Amino acid sequence: MTFDYDLFVIGGGSGGVRAARVAAATGAKVALAEEFRMGGTCVIRGCVPKKLMVFASGFSEMFDDARAYGWDLTDGPFHWSRFRTKLHAELDRLEGIYRKLLGNSDVEIYDARASLKDPHTVSLSTGQTVTAKHILVATGGRPVVPDLPGSELGITSNDIFLLEDMPKSILIVGGGYIASEFAGILNGLGIAVTQFYRGEQILRGFDDEARALVADGMREKGVDLKLGTNVVAMEKADKGILVKATDGTEKTYDQVMFATGRAPNTDGIGLEDAGVALGRSGEIVVDDYSQTGIPSVYAIGDVTNRVQLTPVAIREGMAFVETVFKGNPTKVDHELIPSAVFTQPELGTIGLTEEQARDVEPVEIYSTTFKPMNHSFAGREDRVLMKLVVSKATRKVLGCHIVADHAGEMIQLAGVAVKMGATKEDFDRTVAVHPTMAEELVTMKEPVRSA
Ligand code: NDP
Repeated sequence: MTFDYDLFVIGGGSGGVRAARVAAATGAKVALAEEFRMGGTCVIRGCVPKKLMVFASGFSEMFDDARAYGWDLTDGPFHWSRFRTKLHAELDRLEGIYRKLLGNSDVEIYDARASLKDPHTVSLSTGQTVTAKHILVATGGRPVVPDLPGSELGITSNDIFLLEDMPKSILIVGGGYIASEFAGILNGLGIAVTQFYRGEQILRGFDDEARALVADGMREKGVDLKLGTNVVAMEKADKGILVKATDGTEKTYDQVMFATGRAPNTDGIGLEDAGVALGRSGEIVVDDYSQTGIPSVYAIGDVTNRVQLTPVAIREGMAFVETVFKGNPTKVDHELIPSAVFTQPELGTIGLTEEQARDVEPVEIYSTTFKPMNHSFAGREDRVLMKLVVSKATRKVLGCHIVADHAGEMIQLAGVAVKMGATKEDFDRTVAVHPTMAEELVTMKEPVRSA
């Protein structure tokens, strides 16, 4: 049987675009459909604009710091409209690059919504129907908003970059990556931020000591973080949105933003028609090679709800191409993935938390918190954390957790050592880089506790 394409990719996000390009480079005939903007969540409404907003928000503290270091400087207001215009120009530029990369790789682009008709056929919103030997679903995810009275009045992270004006006050609901990152960003931009998290501490799943320090740091910078609190109902008020909370309080905010998790984009794309099975959260069920139960259909990235991170989706895309187009069956390695949460303060992490590790085997904890030199000089209270979780039996570093400015940069490098299986003694053998914060990672002599 002949097909129009060797590969049809649905979704132009990080994973889909990479898979399409790399597959095309093997000589395969490839097409990709994207219904919105090329680049997907990460480039258009996620990692990239978020990180630029982290940078923008960081300047508010720098005025004080600069004065403490002897500069004569006056605080100026932040102009959202000025930043927004530049931000969108940058996103347009990046989208253009993605398109160009696909074009240069001879990937045919369909600016259309695609859905599966059967295991080898895709129908497009343009009315066209095409066939492909393999179909790769890389449709990502979308924010979910809880079903409670008035919740439609709130916004999500999708909307934040598009706001005409910044609110003066905002309630952020949720305690995960997105909620905690935006609490810091918007607080840094001068907005009065309240954050509700229903549980005991934000950033569930991360190391407890690290979570606590991030929460303390966020409060120190001005975020009104309310734990054990959730929204009961919302209604339109004269000015803003009136929020009734589980703690019995009622307060009006200019905006409410829900960051209460994300769901895989599997609705209305014909997966049922092709016989592709979905899991309990609506995710596409795949094996270690990203193959669904239908042999010609594969899926990568957030739509599979494995690890919702751009670099993971990219790796899943590369492994798919190795497996299907290069005859080299390749599983994606989901073990020991370093990651960063761009909260303020920032959190970098790899491997097991203290709480996870002690359930597996006896461990020693090497941990230190301190006021770093630059903050101390500027008279800031912020503390940083450097922490290693070490196996008593093998001496391997099972986990590394950093809370500090640039923790993301640090964990990328510490992550190489941890991924290689470095022991505590390997860390100790490495000469400290002085004076830095990260030198503490190689100079912690005694464990603070065994667990
Ligand atoms: P998360 O799963 O990280 O967090 C969702 C939060 O919402 C949790 O605190 C959860 O509480 C809470 N929640 C869920 N349902 C409700 C509800 N009905 N009422 C109140 N609170 C609720 O999701 P995010 O949306 O923040 O991020 C999605 C994923 O995107 C992340 O898991 C991450 O993989 C990725 N991401 C990565 C980033 C990075 O690498 N820096 C940045 C942003 C996103 P509870 O803990 O009690 O379940």
